[in-house]
Amino acid sequence: MKLADRTTRIGGSPTMKVTATVDRLRRSGVEVIDFGAGEPDFPTPDAIKAAARAAIDGNFTRYTPVAGIADLKRAICDRYRADYGVEYNESEVIVTAGGKQALYNTALSLFGAGDEVITHAPYWPTLTEQIKLAEATPVLARTYPEDGFAIRARTILDAVTPRTRGVIINSPCNPTGALIAESALGAIADVAARQNIWVLVDLCYEKLIYDEVPHNLPRVLAEKCRDLTVLCGSASKAYAMTGWRCGWAIGPPAVIAASGAIQSHSTSNVTSITQKAALAALTGSQAPVRAMLDEYRGRRDQLHQWLSADPRLRCQKPAGAFYMFVDVGDVLSGLEPGGFRTSLDFADALLEESRVAVTPGEAFDAPGFIRISYATSMENLREGSRRLLDFLAKHSPQGTTA
Ligand code: PMP
Repeated sequence: MKLADRTTRIGGSPTMKVTATVDRLRRSGVEVIDFGAGEPDFPTPDAIKAAARAAIDGNFTRYTPVAGIADLKRAICDRYRADYGVEYNESEVIVTAGGKQALYNTALSLFGAGDEVITHAPYWPTLTEQIKLAEATPVLARTYPEDGFAIRARTILDAVTPRTRGVIINSPCNPTGALIAESALGAIADVAARQNIWVLVDLCYEKLIYDEVPHNLPRVLAEKCRDLTVLCGSASKAYAMTGWRCGWAIGPPAVIAASGAIQSHSTSNVTSITQKAALAALTGSQAPVRAMLDEYRGRRDQLHQWLSADPRLRCQKPAGAFYMFVDVGDVLSGLEPGGFRTSLDFADALLEESRVAVTPGEAFDAPGFIRISYATSMENLREGSRRLLDFLAKHSPQGTTA
């Protein structure tokens, strides 16, 4: 069977593989602690659900404009004005099926064959796969655990060549939880402005930042390279709305128009009901967002404390998002012959033997790590940590590492 060439350039989502295995085990009656999930475990807040019900009851069930209803586009502009002090108008916004489609539309609108697009590693795999789907080439700038996975301007800028067409920054970052410093983004933006390079920012986790640290990325970019900036946001994580599929891109009208044309021939508008729900999310009380953030913070701190019981599980408290990215390299090197050598083997064995699902670092181009999502109950975190520590003790008692 001959498939199109582009199918050979990309792979399926490795994070989804974990979900599929958990699903298979659960269906066969096995109880699994799932640390793989990349989504909030909270229900969507009531006011948002009520707005969706009202949309259905009011028969708001037809096609809408491809780029979204005017109220929602205005609400997105208002939200970014309130949060960041940046001014955008409705012609600079498109509503998309999740942040994923915002990023995809943008990649297809801006990048093509022969172009290089720089992003930082470890990375969320969709970012690089979308660059490839746009026929461009991803170029990776490494970030390092001993440096808190900081996204440094120098490493990004060292990767710039005459073919560089774009830079994609994901902050807070999945999987590391790291934030880019405003000064680092500013230095990147200065070069982008001089060399006509697009800057895309994936702000999917923008509402999940634990401390009051400067993170006004939209304003930094608006001041330095507004005409080259595309901001991609999402209702998924902030409002516990992953299944509703709502995100947005904000950028120059020409880019938004191109994205709209692409979307008009693929998926058309985001579900009308979802748009009303997202409108309620963005314009209503933001108290549920703060409550969820507080809960995630408590879980992060507790999980970190539990994992610290074994010093070979090296991890830092993430500044944002809801993932603990744990270096298991010390443990791998100490396992008995014939045992598992990679974080992929480690994650498989942990799931098969101890019924704890984690995502191996290989999924993010970071072998030797595992990603633990703490978007799950404290009870699950307690039990899962206990199993993980027991698993380690059984396979590699402390003191036996190489
Ligand atoms: N960016 C990052 C870094 C993500 O982790 C995700 C979801 N896993 C997304 C964007 C997109 O999420 P959604 O399409 O649900 O908005």
